[in-house]
Formats: sequence, C-alpha cells, structure tokens
Amino acid sequence: MNNSTHGSIFVISAPSGAGKSSIVDAVLASESDVVLSVSCTTREPRPGEIDGRHYRFISIDEFEKLRDTNNLLEWAKVHDNYYGTPRDTIDTALEEGKDVLLEIDWQGALQVKQYFPDAIGIFILPPSIHELETRLTKRGQDSIDVINRRLAAASEEISKASSFEYVIINQEFSLAVKQVISIISSARLRYKKQAARCYSLFNSLGVK
Ligand code: 5GP
Repeated sequence: MNNSTHGSIFVISAPSGAGKSSIVDAVLASESDVVLSVSCTTREPRPGEIDGRHYRFISIDEFEKLRDTNNLLEWAKVHDNYYGTPRDTIDTALEEGKDVLLEIDWQGALQVKQYFPDAIGIFILPPSIHELETRLTKRGQDSIDVINRRLAAASEEISKASSFEYVIINQEFSLAVKQVISIISSARLRYKKQAARCYSLFNSLGVK
C-alpha cells in the first residue's frame, strides 16, 4: 500500500437550507487535512460568493466542454443549473494522502459511489420542514420564486437520505459540526487507512 490510499472521500448532501455549507466551513476551519472540492457551476454567483473559492463559475459551453472531455468525476442539473466535480482536485488530494469533502447533491453522491465505493456519504437533515423554510427565507439570497422551487425539491432530496451511510440532524449547529468531525476521525482509523498511513510501523510490528 502507498501514500495514495491514506485519504478518504466524504460526500455531504442536504436539501437547500439545511445548513450544509456552514457546517462544511466549520469542519474545514477545524480540520487542516481536509480539502474541499470546489465544484464548477453554470449558476450566477450570489452576493459575496468568490470565484474559485465557493465555485468555479463557468459558462454552459465551458461546462459542456469539461463534461465531454471526461474532466468531471460527476455532474448533475440541479435547480436548472449545471454543477460538476472536477477530477483534478480529488486526484491531487488523494495522491497527497488528504481527505476530500464533496458538498454535492444526491445525484452526484450516487455517481461518486460508483467510482469510489469506499466514499462515505453524510446526509444532513433539517429539524423540520418549517425550519427549512424559515432558513431559506432568512438567508435573503434568493427570490421567492427560487425559494419555492427549492422547497419543492427538498422533499425529493430528503427521500434519498437512505442511500447515505450517516445522517446528521442539524438542530444544534455546534453538535452537528462535532458529529461530522467524529465521522471523519473514525474513517481515518479504519484498518485499511491506518495500514496505508503507518506502513512502516505495521511492517515493523509484523501486523498483517
Ligand atoms: P447552490 O446553488 O445552493 O450552491 O447548490 C445547489 C445544489 O447543488 C446543492 O444541493 C449542492 O450541494 C449541489 N451541488 C453543488 N456542487 C455540486 C456538484 O459539483 N455536483 C452535484 N451533483 N451537485 C452539486
């Protein structure tokens, strides 16, 4: 085993407004060996969003070119826009033995599982539909029309939670962050990952 098998892939999905991005930001701030995969999207940036940090904002033509040249690990059309995960970030991070976090929808999560069956799926649920609606409205970033479409899509997204390994209910933010970090920590202790990371130790101890 070599360095390339140290890292794990974590796929985090949730309906819009469940608090996924805030949880991911807090996890990244606390875990320096976790790399976020920055997706490409054809959607317009929201106020405050930075190109290359939140997303790579690209045109439909550019997106189709990336997709058709096999540069995307997965892609999906969500809320009328295209979103996709560039292969390069994932490959580089895994080669460096880092963990990679993908913040993508359920359609993308299923595609990632096909390529990386060991990828760990984490689904984030809101404490109630009412709370989801309140959070989407309070965010103030989208029009009423967009919010209504997102709420309609939420129940479909939520119905896919059963294909994920873990479910976190984001009732209390700090607890939800701790729970994601504990999943990451446990994944690092899996036999296969430890054997790859501590190859020399395992050898010297005669661990098979
Ligand atoms: P938003 O427009 O609110 O940033 O994201 C809308 C949805 O697209 C969210 O569910 C988000 O997780 C998902 N998404 C973001 N990036 C990707 C991606 O690269 N692939 C897929 N399949 N979904 C993504």
